[in-house]
Amino acid sequence: SGKGTQAERLAPRLRLMPIATGNLFREAVKAGTPLGREAKAIMDRGELAPDGITIALVEEKLDELAAQQALGEGARGALFDGFPRTIAQAEALETALARRGQRVDAVVVIDVPRQQLIERLAGRRVCASCGLVYHVAFNPPKRVGICDVCGGELVQRADDTPEAVARRLDTYDAVTAPLLDFYAQRGVLTHVDGDRPIEEVTEAIAAAADRAVADGQRAG
Ligand code: AMP
Repeated sequence: SGKGTQAERLAPRLRLMPIATGNLFREAVKAGTPLGREAKAIMDRGELAPDGITIALVEEKLDELAAQQALGEGARGALFDGFPRTIAQAEALETALARRGQRVDAVVVIDVPRQQLIERLAGRRVCASCGLVYHVAFNPPKRVGICDVCGGELVQRADDTPEAVARRLDTYDAVTAPLLDFYAQRGVLTHVDGDRPIEEVTEAIAAAADRAVADGQRAG
């Protein structure tokens, strides 16, 4: 729904460390680690990686953030992109944050009609060198198939094929959608309309984050 684009725009602005589990898995795939080899097959099919591995990756990043903060450097907190995606992950996150005296302040859902979601994913192309994201119709490069910034080759993600997209949407409905109730019950959930220009979505999420921080400060 544009979560990666929005997270990249918002993390520096909100002074948050971006933690994008999909990127962490793709980095492991690129590096050819054992974890990467296991993750590649799962991702290409449009399935979710096991909770245990996913949570371990996130805890590693939280430790990195804590180490930076202990030095008086680094971000105010974390901005998760694509995590948690299951109730088990959400519960593990709650425990991991509580151990660190932290909590989830805000959860943002970017709502996009399903048909549009399918069109966005089908037309998405990413630069094989620098990772920049394009869309063949909505955000095309100047030269077809070539990255404007680094000249790299634009490719389709293996999990953006119609079969993998269908699987990802089914997985979302079955195991990720229940998180909406989980976080609504905790009073931290905000819906943002994702069917409008990128800049407007960014402003809506930033406003939701500001409100969440203000509410959190009032609640102590
Ligand atoms: P994304 O870039 O967020 O669309 O993630 C790409 C793929 O990485 C997903 O389809 C999953 O296979 C895997 N992945 C990313 N985040 C998670 C997560 N929180 N739990 C399990 N698998 C994940």
